[in-house]
Amino acid sequence: MHASSPRQKAIDAVTTYTLSVDGLDYSEPPESIFASNVFNNATMKARLPRPVWEALQATIERSATLDRSVADAVAAAMRDWAVERGATHYAHVFYPLTGLTAEKHDAFLGVDDAGNAISEFSGKALIQGEPDASSFPNGGLRETFEARGYTGWDVTSPSYLIENPNGNTLCIPTVFVSYTGDALDKKTPLLRSQQVLDVQARRVLRLFGHDEPENVTTYVGAEQEYFLIDRHFFHARPDLIASGRTLFGARPPKGQEFDDHYFGAIPDRVLAFMYQVERELWKLGIPAKTRHNEVAPGQFEIAPVFERANLANDHQQLLMTTLRRVAGAYGMECILHEKPFKGVNGSGKHVNFSFGNSAQGNLLNPGDTPHANAQFLVFCAAVIRAVGRHGGLIRSVVAHAGNDHRLGANEAPPAIISVFLGEQLMDVFDQIAKGGATESMGKGTLKIGVDTLPALHSDPGDRNRTSPLAFTGNRFEFRAPGSAQSIAGPMVAINSSVAESLDYIATEIEAMLDAGTGLNDAVQDVLQAIVAEHGNVIFNGDSYSDEWKVEAASRGLPNLMTTPEALAEMDSATSRELFARYGVLSNRELHSRFEVYMHRYTLTVAVEARSTLEIARTLLLPAATRYQGELASIAADLKAIGQEPDLTTLNLISDAVRDLRAATSALAELVHQEAPPATVAEAEFCCNVLLPAMENVRRAADMLEDNVADDLWPLPTYQEMLFIL
Ligand code: ADP
Ligand code: MG
Repeated sequence: MHASSPRQKAIDAVTTYTLSVDGLDYSEPPESIFASNVFNNATMKARLPRPVWEALQATIERSATLDRSVADAVAAAMRDWAVERGATHYAHVFYPLTGLTAEKHDAFLGVDDAGNAISEFSGKALIQGEPDASSFPNGGLRETFEARGYTGWDVTSPSYLIENPNGNTLCIPTVFVSYTGDALDKKTPLLRSQQVLDVQARRVLRLFGHDEPENVTTYVGAEQEYFLIDRHFFHARPDLIASGRTLFGARPPKGQEFDDHYFGAIPDRVLAFMYQVERELWKLGIPAKTRHNEVAPGQFEIAPVFERANLANDHQQLLMTTLRRVAGAYGMECILHEKPFKGVNGSGKHVNFSFGNSAQGNLLNPGDTPHANAQFLVFCAAVIRAVGRHGGLIRSVVAHAGNDHRLGANEAPPAIISVFLGEQLMDVFDQIAKGGATESMGKGTLKIGVDTLPALHSDPGDRNRTSPLAFTGNRFEFRAPGSAQSIAGPMVAINSSVAESLDYIATEIEAMLDAGTGLNDAVQDVLQAIVAEHGNVIFNGDSYSDEWKVEAASRGLPNLMTTPEALAEMDSATSRELFARYGVLSNRELHSRFEVYMHRYTLTVAVEARSTLEIARTLLLPAATRYQGELASIAADLKAIGQEPDLTTLNLISDAVRDLRAATSALAELVHQEAPPATVAEAEFCCNVLLPAMENVRRAADMLEDNVADDLWPLPTYQEMLFIL
């Protein structure tokens, strides 16, 4: 390799790298760091007049309307707290449909009538902001002449400080809506779905004798997988820069086949990075807990302790930002794409969820008494029915260009949405299915209210890691979401579809009680009906297997492999009805999302196609033809001195160059072709025509990478990127 090639420079830089970051001061224990940059409940209680604090609590805990005078008092206290900590600015933080985090910053600094500088931050500025909404995707919800969008304070998610060596900013989590009140973001429907779930869950709890149940919330713990590579390699890969994934790259001689990376010792530089990430997260009140190597070389995982869904969502976004930012300080790039390296394990974001409150505890926890168990089974059945009715929707919310490369790739759950219950719970539902058929208590039947469940281990040995949605003892783990994704979309779909099923269950039981049926019999009846109708989504076997694909098809479960197919389910009649009925998303809002996501898919693939073309033409073809020329002149030289040259390699290279050229021209033609006018047709074109054409280019190029002299190859290889850290 030439000493001046970007590859060689990258390797030199990696080998001579020393940590340039000052060591952290770990004399301060994590407990005293935790939430030190959060204007949290404890801080508010200490700083706000009692009636103000109580009014705010009522809003946070019970959604009471917030009085303007309360907002003014909170704003003043919040500003004082932030200014004491060096803040000069505040920012409304929101979560547009891009899946990223957006923020608009304003200085506290103002000028009064006499021209004197003042520090201002009113209740109004806290409650509402007005960023220019025209540059955020809205899927046709807003005409350009009415581009106004509003951010509104989310009282339930605490404000926090983001530090920078040059100053600090007070960040206020907000919703983002249009002038007409339509949701333009991911948080608004999440909050709405949370309320809907609460209402229906409490109806069910009342049936079980909890007369005034506390509000029920969804708890979410998201495990984040990510890759780290040295920044020098990253910058020498235009595909990673443009698309977040490699569009070229031959298989390395050694991959992950030795299973020697998973849970292995963490490299020093990575460990130093993890310590700092955790410090930063703790300051922000994010309970980072678990860290380890993942399956692929260069792949890692971080998981915080579960929190309320809305907070978990905000924290998840902050976590992704923090990972990226801190990686830079350690000379690395954090890659959150679902499949950055072909043939190497992809990255997911396992979303663990449960429902509960502090009085009744975790509603997905099996109880000790028959009564508690019946209640647990009802909540489990609600999840099963939700998947049975809305599996398509649940598939659609994990659909995006990156995740298409991961789902079904034999290391991630397939695109078929099913539920894993584990042997024991599966057995229980089987018995329920039989139980009501006869009045007898014969072998293999289970009577609600009489039998206690067999003790379900909270960490069952038969843990299934192939299922998209697995019951793991006291929660469900949704394993299909992609590593780069916001968890809001998945949780909106789960909350809403589970709420609908709880509504159904409560309505059925209420009617039976009114007709004089006892509670236990009514519960038995409903559970049995649910298993009969939706038992086809329960699958305990190996979801990665080919047999499952066949069996799923015979059970009528769809296998939606690509984003355009899967997204269609988002805007289906059943999804529209679900969201409109519970006021989570109007038909208009839902359709706008469908448009935005479909268009984003098209944009993503289009960028990848252009990047493929550019790299093939300006980096790979020149390298290959240079080598071809070298071989040709050697052959000519040999001939000139009377020797018969061996033309095997030259012929091989010439053929491959011809293939690459042909594939590149074919792709170029498609890229320059006018795209179909409609959103869906355009996405389908990208999926069915552009992606295969890119694959053809890649095949020819990867073949060349395996055969061209290494010193001429311009792109860092998989081996270099994954193993030199
Ligand atoms: P795994 O063995 O699946 O890799 P991890 O410890 O990495 O487990 O992550 C499990 C995640 O599930 C954590 O975020 C954890 O806080 C979360 N979790 C645990 N219990 C619950 C619960 N009852 N509800 C929601 N999430 C939970
Ligand atoms: Mg884990």
